[in-house]
Amino acid sequence: MTLKLESLEKTFGSHTAVGGINAEVAPGSMFGMLGANGAGKTTTFRMILGLLDPTSGTAEWNGRRIGYDRTHLIGYLPEERGLFPKLTVKDQLVYLMRLNGMKRQDTIKEMRSWLERFQVEEYENKKVEELSKGNQQKIQFMAAVLHRPELLILDEPFSGLDPVNADMLKEAVLSIQKNGTTIVFSSHQMRNVEELCEEILMLKEGRVVLEGHLNDIKRSYSMKNIRIRAD
Ligand code: ATP
Repeated sequence: MTLKLESLEKTFGSHTAVGGINAEVAPGSMFGMLGANGAGKTTTFRMILGLLDPTSGTAEWNGRRIGYDRTHLIGYLPEERGLFPKLTVKDQLVYLMRLNGMKRQDTIKEMRSWLERFQVEEYENKKVEELSKGNQQKIQFMAAVLHRPELLILDEPFSGLDPVNADMLKEAVLSIQKNGTTIVFSSHQMRNVEELCEEILMLKEGRVVLEGHLNDIKRSYSMKNIRIRAD
């Protein structure tokens, strides 16, 4: 159950968005991908998910490319949040989880436990458009995890959240990891990555500028230096 990226590259015309990434994410680990706007994080995720074909190289989960037959094994929180505004939270999640082969009653059961945990039980029958952006983000997160994926990809999961909600989501992410899920998430901020990850990879203009175990990196660089390189 390893995520392996080998010489993964994506070019758009003459522009190299991702310039040959190699990485191996250990099973059950939390892996942080750092980088400023345009560094190539989302493009890398889309190639891992099979939404975008690499120009060259491979991205494999458990030895195979993630195609449509294996979509249900993966959970994805996209950077551009996209829920159906007119659907209720329940209908939204039942619909999305059906795409993962999950039965209505199972979805509702899981949904209720997450709503309780996020302290928003009263939102079950509210339309998505009636919720604040932060609460919509919690629902979008639930859409990525209700089916208990093997691999969870979170694109900027904490952006736009106030500190209380960001902490709530961090706790949720940690508990999912404890249950054995492998998690990869992106962030602009070293702080988020530092709190949650042991292994990190930092991208700049599609190239890896730093990678490895956080403790080793801290030993080699001051955290101030790392922040400067991320910006
Ligand atoms: P952000 O946090 O701003 O989303 P990112 O690290 O996720 O940044 P990407 O979205 O992967 O970065 O973009 C990497 C580069 O590839 C950028 O220069 C972007 O403009 C370019 N790019 C991404 N998708 C396309 C596309 N479909 N066509 C052309 N260029 C693209």
